[in-house]
Amino acid sequence: MTLQTLSINKERLEKRIHELAEIGKISDTGVCRLALSKEDRKAVETVKRWMEEAGLTARIDHFGNLIGRLEGKSPDAPILMVGSHIDSQPYGGRFDGVIGVLGALEVVQTMLEKNIVPDTPIEVVAFCDEEGCRFNKGLFGVRGILGKLEEGELERKDKNGVTRREALIEFGCDPTKFKESEYNEGSIGAFLEMHIEQGPILEAKDVPVGIVTGISGPLWLSVELEGFAGHAGSVPMSMRQDALVGAAKVIVALNELSSQDPSAPTVGTVGSLQVFPDSRNIIPEKVTFTVDLRDIDINRRHVIEANLRKQIKEITKTHGLQCTITEDTNSEPRYCSERLMNIMRQQSAKIGLSPIELMSGPFHDSLSMSYACEYGMIFVRCKDGISHNPKEFSTIEDIVLGTELLYHTVINY
Ligand SMILES: [Zn+2]
Repeated sequence: MTLQTLSINKERLEKRIHELAEIGKISDTGVCRLALSKEDRKAVETVKRWMEEAGLTARIDHFGNLIGRLEGKSPDAPILMVGSHIDSQPYGGRFDGVIGVLGALEVVQTMLEKNIVPDTPIEVVAFCDEEGCRFNKGLFGVRGILGKLEEGELERKDKNGVTRREALIEFGCDPTKFKESEYNEGSIGAFLEMHIEQGPILEAKDVPVGIVTGISGPLWLSVELEGFAGHAGSVPMSMRQDALVGAAKVIVALNELSSQDPSAPTVGTVGSLQVFPDSRNIIPEKVTFTVDLRDIDINRRHVIEANLRKQIKEITKTHGLQCTITEDTNSEPRYCSERLMNIMRQQSAKIGLSPIELMSGPFHDSLSMSYACEYGMIFVRCKDGISHNPKEFSTIEDIVLGTELLYHTVINY
């Protein structure tokens, strides 16, 4: 596909991505736009202005979401929502979320310029606080419009003691009017989100764009192994109850179980580990560590979990350890709509793209939307799979190809 055949406006999209990266800029390429901060507000105002210039009716709702609407031939038909988020991590990059919002705006602006009137209304949305780093709980805006906020969420404080309620009011929202900003069940027909991959697969396969098959469900466990402390110089090897040796074997077991089918997207990680008493000449008595296991196939994940638990039992027996396993999170995978994926497949072929299909390990706004309507996602290649880091990078050419596919998906929705 050559750039001459593009429908969307590459220069406009590129200019906006660069302009937004100036708001909350840190270092050369990084941004810090924490949810509901002054920088976030400025970014939301900027994109709102672009939406209005494009001809959309734009508003900021009581959850802090920015929503720009294009009317359809049937104004009461279920809405097609397209978007992502523009808040960032404290030491974040320029593309995470941003390309999904600005790409969606570019798609709708192109439709307006070509006098294409959609059947259903289209809403371009920048959801508030996807990242969750300020109040330690994310996907706020998207859960808000779906009526899925939890007890006590407004009382959560940031590290300066500011509650989410205070931050929302400061932002110009009114938490007593949340109901007005909620969407009725069935009023959203579908959600489309373009996002940088945040992983290395597209780059390794040398393709600019991927069609997402679903968001994998993580299983999070905390494991505690308890043995017996003793002097590292005197207790013979055969008499030890070394909890760290047990933990090491469990880590290897998880790694091997998660890698046994190289064609499967299963991933298993121990990312955090504490040793007690953590001294060089004492045999470790207690070790606690986390397990993060993800797969798009829940049955395969269940089998791996069962095998892991069996191996933990054997390892603890061999080393004379006690074991406690706590389940912290157990989310099911959420599959993308086959219908939307088919539109993406057909349109890719038409415009000369050959995307691969892959699952998403990280969460996105789409995860929450998947409980309200059908959803589809497009991934754009990013350099070395880096994200949540100023080094995050995607080329404008790849972003444009993703946006072009988004455009053709929307107009054929
Ligand atoms: Zn994101």
